Amino acid sequence: MRENPKEAETTAHRLMLKAGLVRMLGAGIYSYLPLGWKVLQNIATIVREEMNRIGGVEFFLPVLSPSDIWEESGRWDSFGDELFRLKDRKGRSLCLSPTHEEIITHLARQNIKSYKELPQIWYQIQTKFRDEPRPRSAVVRARQFIMKDSYTMDTDEDGLNRSYNLHFEAYTKIFTRCGLDFFSVEASGGVMGTGKSEEFMVPCASGEDRVVRCTSCNYRANLVISDSKPVEFKSEDSNLKEVSTPGKKTVEEVSSFLKVPSHRLMKSLLYTNNNKPIFILIRGDYEAAEEKIKRHFGEAIRQATEEEILNTCKADAGFIGPVGLENIEIYADTAFCKKYGFITGANKNNYHLTGVTPERDFKVKEYIDLKLSHRGDRCIHCNGELEFINAIEVGHIFQLGKKYSISMGATFGTKDGARLPIVMGSYGIGLERIMASAIETFADSDGICWPLSIAPFKVIVVPLDSKELLEAALNIYKKLLQEGIEVLLDDRDQTPGVKFKDADLIGIPFRITVGERYREKNKVELYDRREKKTVYLSLEDMQRRIGEICSIE
Ligand code: ATP
Ligand code: MG
Repeated sequence: MRENPKEAETTAHRLMLKAGLVRMLGAGIYSYLPLGWKVLQNIATIVREEMNRIGGVEFFLPVLSPSDIWEESGRWDSFGDELFRLKDRKGRSLCLSPTHEEIITHLARQNIKSYKELPQIWYQIQTKFRDEPRPRSAVVRARQFIMKDSYTMDTDEDGLNRSYNLHFEAYTKIFTRCGLDFFSVEASGGVMGTGKSEEFMVPCASGEDRVVRCTSCNYRANLVISDSKPVEFKSEDSNLKEVSTPGKKTVEEVSSFLKVPSHRLMKSLLYTNNNKPIFILIRGDYEAAEEKIKRHFGEAIRQATEEEILNTCKADAGFIGPVGLENIEIYADTAFCKKYGFITGANKNNYHLTGVTPERDFKVKEYIDLKLSHRGDRCIHCNGELEFINAIEVGHIFQLGKKYSISMGATFGTKDGARLPIVMGSYGIGLERIMASAIETFADSDGICWPLSIAPFKVIVVPLDSKELLEAALNIYKKLLQEGIEVLLDDRDQTPGVKFKDADLIGIPFRITVGERYREKNKVELYDRREKKTVYLSLEDMQRRIGEICSIE
C-alpha cells in the first residue's frame, strides 16, 4: 500500500498491512499473504527445531472437538464466551479448540499405560480459535491464530519440574533465534489453573500486557499478579466518627470533599464466592487486583451486584464499609496491617466513618496482598525501584499438575502395580505474536527491518532499468538460489525509487543493486537494511559476503 491504512492502531498492524503480509477478512480474522506466510513458516521451523531438540514429538490434533471432553474437564462452562461453540447436523455440541489440554489428556488416557512410557513431550503447531472480546492490533489478538502448544506428561513433580525447565530453555533459544529482545515474568495461569507459570514478554509501547520489573534485582512479574511494597504513610486520626458525605461515592469525591489524601481511604468491595458474601478492603490509592483475588479465592468469585450490596450492607456501593457487618468474612490488603485511622463507608447512604481501625473496629479474617502494584511501590525482595512497562506476551509456560489427569482419568501404572494420575504441563507460543513483536521492535521510518532468521527473504536483488542489468541480476539471483539462499528478484518495471522504497518497506535484510557501477566496473552495491550501510563489491566478494552472513545466522 502506498498510503497508511487508517484502521491500523499499532506500528506492527500498519506495517503488516502496508507491506502486504496480511489482510483482514473480519474482526480478528486474517489472511496471510505470501510474505507474511513465509515469515510464519520461518518462525515455525525455528520452533520445531528447538522443540525436537528437547525431545518433543510432533502431533497434529483436530481443531473441531466434541463437547463431552470439555464437560469432563469442566471447561465447557469455565471457558465462557471465548469458546466458539457449534452444533453439527445431528444436534451434537462441538467447539473449535482454543487450546488442546482436553484432547491431549484424552489421548494420554487411551495410550499411556505404564511409568515406562513416561516422560513425554507432545507438541503441535496448529490454528486456535478464541472469541476474544476485543480483537486488536491485527494478529496480536486475533480470533483465529497459530500456536505452538506442547504438553508434558511425567510421573511426579520432579519430572514436571524437569520438563518445565526444558521448555524454559527451549523458549529462551527460540526467542533468541528469532532475534527478539525478551524476558520472562511470573504469571497467572488464567483459565489453565493455579500452578507455577511464567510468560515470555517482548517490551514494546503498544503491548497490551503490563509488566513490573525491579531495576535492582531479578524480580519480574505480570502486573496482574505482581507483588510490591506499597508506599508507606504515617497513620493519623484514630477517633471513630461518622461524617456526612452527601452524594460522595468515589475515592476521588470523598477525598476531595473531606480534604484528605486518597491513601487515607479504605475501599470496601463486596464479592460473592459461591453465594457467600466476602468483604475485601483495598487502600484508596490502589485498585483491587482481580487476578490475585481469583487466585486466592478461586474462579467462582465475582463482584457483588448492586442489589446484593444493598441487601447485605443496607447501603449503596459508595457508602459501604466493614464496621458493624456481621457474619461476613473480611479480608484486608496487607497495606492495612497494623495501621489505623482510615475513612470508609458507614453502611448508611450519604455517610462515611473516619478514624476506622482494623481489629479495633472490625475483625480481619486475613491480610492478603490483593492490590494492583503501582508507581512508587518498591520491590518486595530488595526494596529496589520498580518499573512498569508495556509488553507483548509471546509465550507462556505452565505447570498444570494433575488438574486434567484427575478430572479426565489419565493415569499410569507404577512399578508396584498402582495407578496414579499423570503430572502434566502446558506450554504455548503465539507465532503471529513473534512476527508482530519483531516488527514493533525493529521497524524504522522506512518500514519493517526483519531479523535475518525470520525474514521472508534474506536478500533482494534489484536491477536498475535496463535489459542488460536485468540479465546480470537474474544471474546473481540464480547463483544465490543455487547456494540455498532465500532471495527475491525485483524484476518489476518500476523506477529505482519505487523499488528501493518497497525493498525497505518489506524489510529484506540485504539489498543487492545492479546498476551503473556494474556496467562500468563490474561491481554491485550491497546495502544493509538495518545498519543502513552500503558497500560496493565484485560479484565474487558479494557472493562470499552473503554466504558468510547467511551461515553465521
Ligand atoms: P492473553 O493473556 O494475551 O490473552 P493467554 O494467556 O490467553 O494470552 P495462552 O492461553 O497462554 O495465552 O496462549 C499461549 C500463547 O498463545 C500466548 O502466549 C500468545 O503468544 C498466544 N496467543 C494467545 N491468545 C492469542 C490471540 N488471541 N491471538 C494471537 N496469539 C495469541
Ligand atoms: Mg487470552
